[in-house]
Amino acid sequence: MAGILVVAESAGGSVTPHSLEMLGAARALSAQGGGSVSAFIAGGDGLAQTLIAHGADAVYTSAAPETALAEVLAPAVEEAAAAAGADVVLVAQSSLGRDLAPLLAFRAGTGVAMDCTGLALDGGRLRATRSCYGGNARAEHTWKSAIQIVSVKGKAFDALEADGARPGTVAAVSAQGPARITITGTEKSSGEGIKLEDAAIVVSGGRGLGDQGAFKQLEELAGTLKLAAVGASRAACDLGWYPPSQQVGLTGKTVSPQLYIAVAISGASQHMAGMGGSKNIVAINKDADANMVKVARFAVVEDYRKVLPALIAEIKKLD
Ligand SMILES: Cc1cc2nc3c(=O)[nH]c(=O)nc-3n(C[C@H](O)[C@H](O)[C@H](O)COP(=O)(O)OP(=O)(O)OC[C@H]3O[C@@H](n4cnc5c(N)ncnc54)[C@H](O)[C@@H]3O)c2cc1C
Repeated sequence: MAGILVVAESAGGSVTPHSLEMLGAARALSAQGGGSVSAFIAGGDGLAQTLIAHGADAVYTSAAPETALAEVLAPAVEEAAAAAGADVVLVAQSSLGRDLAPLLAFRAGTGVAMDCTGLALDGGRLRATRSCYGGNARAEHTWKSAIQIVSVKGKAFDALEADGARPGTVAAVSAQGPARITITGTEKSSGEGIKLEDAAIVVSGGRGLGDQGAFKQLEELAGTLKLAAVGASRAACDLGWYPPSQQVGLTGKTVSPQLYIAVAISGASQHMAGMGGSKNIVAINKDADANMVKVARFAVVEDYRKVLPALIAEIKKLD
């Protein structure tokens, strides 16, 4: 393989964690014989060293603003890919990437695999894996054409530790597409506390909680654990017990915390698709045969109403 280009993004002047995860994935491909790792970023060259420290051998920068849309950035990414000699382009499954990945593929006359969670080399060509049929099956994609374009799901790969001593080159690209769309304003979703996707600990509740009020107990547990956020299964969100913004799973958020505490969640494949990468899973479930109990590192097979107050009291003693 000739090389890999990661289309990095920044927000508020910082490289997004998702971009660093893609660099980690690209380095793993490179180690399998995938060639050199390059990165593209809009917004000038201020963040190039961060990308190099996290795995890029070369960085191509565009003066287009970090908020530029796919129609503006596509020619710049193409220029960077040509300069880097990259035949694999990794784009984040972000609001930009959802537009940019298919646009790049259309312009290159090739295919795109969206929302991928696995990347490997097979005979020198890319093999990308993504979930399909509502999370019940996995599809593997290969390309007939030379250019292989993938959008990568967040939290599917680990970023590398920054190494400030890594060498790398920086060059500017000048191509830009026409800006036919104007963004008149942006609004941040109002979420209090730690973001679900960034939390080191996630405490999630499911339909087995039985009522909305039980989420107060989960919030108390999360508060006691400090760096924790509260999530929910889709069943709990659909019942209106918790906001859809906190839904974990295939059609919700993807999380990979150090600790995921699943309270009264059965562990359906669509839920697992959003938290299966958690480093340690603890299940609290009264059904010993629930899938969540089977995949958990530790499980308490008991009514959550007995377990949660005792758990909160014990954790409080540690303070
Ligand atoms: C296309 C598609 C996309 C989907 N996307 C998602 C998604 O993103 N996220 C998601 O979560 N789901 C998703 N689903 C739904 C998914 O299939 C499941 O229906 C859902 O995850 C079940 O939620 P649950 O585990 O909370 O509820 P249930 O499956 O009803 O499980 C409840 C659990 O609580 C336990 N329990 C009951 N009472 C107690 C008690 N007192 N103490 C302890 N344990 C108790 C039970 O033993 C059971 O294991 C999707 C489905 C489809 C078809």
